[in-house]
Amino acid sequence: MNKIRVLPEIIANKIAAGEIVERPASVVKELVENSIDALCRSVYVSVASGGKRSITVRDDGEGMTQDDAILAFEHHATSKLHRVEDLAAIATLGFRGEALPSIASVSRMTLRTRPADAQIISGTEVEVQGGVLRSVKPISWDQGTEVVVRDLFFNVPARRKFLRSHETELGHISRLVTHYALAHPEIRFSLQSETRLLIDAVAVTNLKDRVYQIFGERFLDNLVEFAGDYGDIKVRGFTSRPSEQRTNPYWQFFYVNRRMVRDKVISSAVRKAYRNCLPASAYPVVILFVELPFDQVDVNAHPAKTEIRFRDQSTVHDLIFKAIDEALARSTVIPPYRYQAIGQQIAGQASDFGAQRSANLPSDDGMAYGTVAEPVSSHPFQPALEYLSRPVASPPERTYDQGALKAVPEMLLNSAMKPETTFSPPAVRILGQLQESYIIACDSQGLLIIDQHAAHERILYEKLAQQIKKNSVETQGLLVPILLDLSPHQVAWLEKVMPELAQNGFQVEHFGGTSILIRTVPAIASGVDCRKLVSEILDGLEASERTVDIQEVRDRIAVAVACKAAVKANMSLTVEKMQWLLDQLALTRMPTNCPHGRPTMLRFSLGQIERNFGRI
Ligand code: ADP
Ligand code: MG
Repeated sequence: MNKIRVLPEIIANKIAAGEIVERPASVVKELVENSIDALCRSVYVSVASGGKRSITVRDDGEGMTQDDAILAFEHHATSKLHRVEDLAAIATLGFRGEALPSIASVSRMTLRTRPADAQIISGTEVEVQGGVLRSVKPISWDQGTEVVVRDLFFNVPARRKFLRSHETELGHISRLVTHYALAHPEIRFSLQSETRLLIDAVAVTNLKDRVYQIFGERFLDNLVEFAGDYGDIKVRGFTSRPSEQRTNPYWQFFYVNRRMVRDKVISSAVRKAYRNCLPASAYPVVILFVELPFDQVDVNAHPAKTEIRFRDQSTVHDLIFKAIDEALARSTVIPPYRYQAIGQQIAGQASDFGAQRSANLPSDDGMAYGTVAEPVSSHPFQPALEYLSRPVASPPERTYDQGALKAVPEMLLNSAMKPETTFSPPAVRILGQLQESYIIACDSQGLLIIDQHAAHERILYEKLAQQIKKNSVETQGLLVPILLDLSPHQVAWLEKVMPELAQNGFQVEHFGGTSILIRTVPAIASGVDCRKLVSEILDGLEASERTVDIQEVRDRIAVAVACKAAVKANMSLTVEKMQWLLDQLALTRMPTNCPHGRPTMLRFSLGQIERNFGRI
């Protein structure tokens, strides 16, 4: 007897649903994508019990005829692809024709819709339960589509059991709506959870206004804009200054042709751009758009459509790296005295930048979008909501497509209004040294506290990195070669990087067993403990890399040498030496952070001083 059977459609749909619908947020994702594809001008999402009880997504898009509304529930039924060639250049968010049948197979779904066509006077209501069509009837309905999904996974108890708390699921949904709201400022997005309106972002004309609507003004203040082009490929977006640090990638929003994606090429380019201004364990905040011809990216890599493949990965990678790297170097604002490094929380003060939420993150791996769940109580919409509910003293209003309901006050977006806090030594007067470790100085905007070691590290790092890049590292021979015993791990690494070490100032040779002789060091490092230095370079490689990345090796050398050769804390400096440090620091690309990512200086602004003395 034959053993192979074609599965009944209802089982096949359930299996497909397993890949697409992981949790309520995945339903919201598919439905919101459908609304965007239907060219809507507004999407309203409403959920109950974190989407577990019900999810409603309503749009004012092009809607469907009755026939289409029934057909939409068939497997592989789509209006977005016609020919096989279309697959090579997908211009819509959906294309698989699987979302509606999949979601309907694991829930009780009601779809109400009416197309724009004036000939069609009534709408259609379709009800499907657990994948079975229950009813189709004409209803009175405005243009657009509403999908209500109740009791998700009511017929898949194993899945239902894996859903998290209402708050966690709502956190995923909020993030999802935020994600798409950022990509489509021209669409109005609302998210309501029971009686709470969490997001209401009216249509605006640009990304900056949308960022403001959702996250608030302070958030925007800490971002720098970046942009870059290469042929047909464009990248643009906002990225955080090094003083803003996160312990997880929750605050990174990546898009390719306005599709939210999760992508290693993008995240590694971002990481590289922050390599020497952010600690290795910290993540920046990034909102990043890649725009490129549709045929240069394959979006059909995974049923959830968040994974993609670029045709030309390295061009995209380099373009992103360069755009962010340059933007960061252009905008070196001195971090304020209330600097928030990761793991710190300033007492009695709500975070300015929605920062430091990681401490209370649930241990949820957030598989659906490769993100980390965020409890809704500390959700980033607060600033926006506060703004929306605050009486605003007649702000200059803008008119947008959809009316000036809650338009963004122009003045708040004007970057010229922000205090200028860049670093300019001619205007800086040195007042003295604190604890033989910090330079205290002032300028017209307040006090500056400079960490002498970190500052010198940045200077030496850039100097050596330049020399390495030009292949012109000045070396210094050691009168007496230094003998160093390595661990077996270090020996293994040494084999791989010996030529690179030699190229960059360290001539080392084997001396039997696991011992080596160090014959030369970079001139910058003369006088430092070379044993420790070489040992640290090798250890650093061990920790970070599985394969050897020459750039990374060079960078490690520069960072390690700079750290060892820089003036230490607890070292008395003359005023001349301090002045020299500040002057040299000003010449670096990134004077505000040491190559490990710590700040080199902090500003205590006049405003802060006056506030603290109760003068303002
Ligand atoms: P896909 O989006 O991949 O085409 P779906 O199962 O999500 O597949 O949707 C099937 C079809 O139903 C779509 O191709 C579209 O024609 C129609 N559709 C779904 N949602 C909407 C909507 N909100 N407005 C208009 N048409 C819709
Ligand atoms: Mg779809």
